[in-house]
Amino acid sequence: MKQVHVIGAGLSGLSCALRLSRAGATVSLYDAAAQAGGRCRSYWDGKLDRRIDNGNHLLLSANHATLDYLGEIGARNRFVSPPQASFPFVDLSTGERWTISPGPSPIPWWIFQRDRRVPGSHPFDYISFLQLAAARADMTVAAALPKRNLLWDRFWRPFCTSALNTAPEEASAQLLWRTIRETFAKGSGACLPLVPKDGLSDSFVDPALRIIQASGNFVRFNHRLRSFEFDGSRIVTLDFGDRRIELGANDMVVVALPPGNAGQVLPGLKTPDDSRPIVNVHLRIDLDSTTSPLLPLNLPFLGLTGGSFDWVFLRRDVASLTVSAAAELAEQPAEQIAQQAWAETAQALMLDPATAHEVRVVKERRATFAQTPAALKLRPGARTAWHNLLLAGDWTDTGYPATIESAVRSGNNAAALAAEMLR
Ligand SMILES: Cc1cc2nc3c(=O)[nH]c(=O)nc-3n(C[C@H](O)[C@H](O)[C@H](O)COP(=O)(O)OP(=O)(O)OC[C@H]3O[C@@H](n4cnc5c(N)ncnc54)[C@H](O)[C@@H]3O)c2cc1C
Repeated sequence: MKQVHVIGAGLSGLSCALRLSRAGATVSLYDAAAQAGGRCRSYWDGKLDRRIDNGNHLLLSANHATLDYLGEIGARNRFVSPPQASFPFVDLSTGERWTISPGPSPIPWWIFQRDRRVPGSHPFDYISFLQLAAARADMTVAAALPKRNLLWDRFWRPFCTSALNTAPEEASAQLLWRTIRETFAKGSGACLPLVPKDGLSDSFVDPALRIIQASGNFVRFNHRLRSFEFDGSRIVTLDFGDRRIELGANDMVVVALPPGNAGQVLPGLKTPDDSRPIVNVHLRIDLDSTTSPLLPLNLPFLGLTGGSFDWVFLRRDVASLTVSAAAELAEQPAEQIAQQAWAETAQALMLDPATAHEVRVVKERRATFAQTPAALKLRPGARTAWHNLLLAGDWTDTGYPATIESAVRSGNNAAALAAEMLR
């Protein structure tokens, strides 16, 4: 029987296992953790007495591979999406509030409408889109866009930091342009935000696992791959410490691990190892003692500028704040972060600061690799020097930023190659 062993049950491993299982292969999926989902997961938090996500995740309608994956696992209806592409913001230093609303046409006529563009910006400022498009491969976003104006503070910096989890001073300009080209440059149809209604595991993970298991495949948690045994250019054994699995002559392996872990089990593999953290703060708000928080346009999120946090998401009585590229904040003690988060939440959601609340701070120290021009050169393709081993993961060379879309694309690609090699 032809087997594919998929190591890592994050979204790259799940999408790979799903595709392979649909193609009729027998799949064994392993993860070191007690659950699937990796960097995109939910869990019960005893302090908040709520199921929370490790961090807020936002999709855009341009994420076609992810939307197809969600369609395949029957989870498209588990997302909230507004009828129009709108991104409400508040500047916490001035109290100003606005909404960015790209128009339907790829020609950005919307920048000529004062109420759709960044307040204080001039249509002429948006010429910077062309500067980004012309950036060289070695340029950072800050080098490609030298002008420091309101558009920089209120659009380019937050957009770059959120999309690439890397500050514009070091982020790749070409990678950011790729994101703009697939979203804003295609008009509002490509920029519709989608947010999970109930949580990441409910939306992205559990439905996929059910399908994979229902097809007779094995999913094994608490299985940390320690090393491989090689015979020339083939992998012959998977070593999980207390368990070893000998591979059959036609068996394939897909390594769907984060870059650091992949580098540990594959000697000589070069990976973009430098990473950037994302800090999330979840606040359970006592809604009996306060007026219900309201977000503009009934959207479940609000962009923040002029403070420490980038976004606040609201799901029932839990507000969750996010900061990307959060190296400095991640070094602060949780209590200090929690205080700052509550102050900004109360201001953004116009709540009485005396409202009772409980807080949980989650620091994801290696949220994604640092998406610098130098690191992009280290992204490997799916094929490796070993004949029966393929790579997947958001950090591999998909051409996309290290996001869910990249993870799903990498998993699909590894599955297609494995299926071809098994034939
Ligand atoms: C806080 C946060 C917010 C984010 N926000 C967004 C967002 O808004 N939009 C977006 O598109 N993306 C976002 N991302 C990025 C997105 O979560 C990732 O790109 C995606 O989940 C990566 O999937 P993956 O399968 O490549 O890797 P992972 O999810 O890291 O999966 C790898 C798996 O391998 C397992 N593993 C590790 N070592 C071993 C071993 N030796 N043996 C066996 N198993 C092992 C891990 O337990 C893990 O389950 C965010 C990430 C974080 C952390």
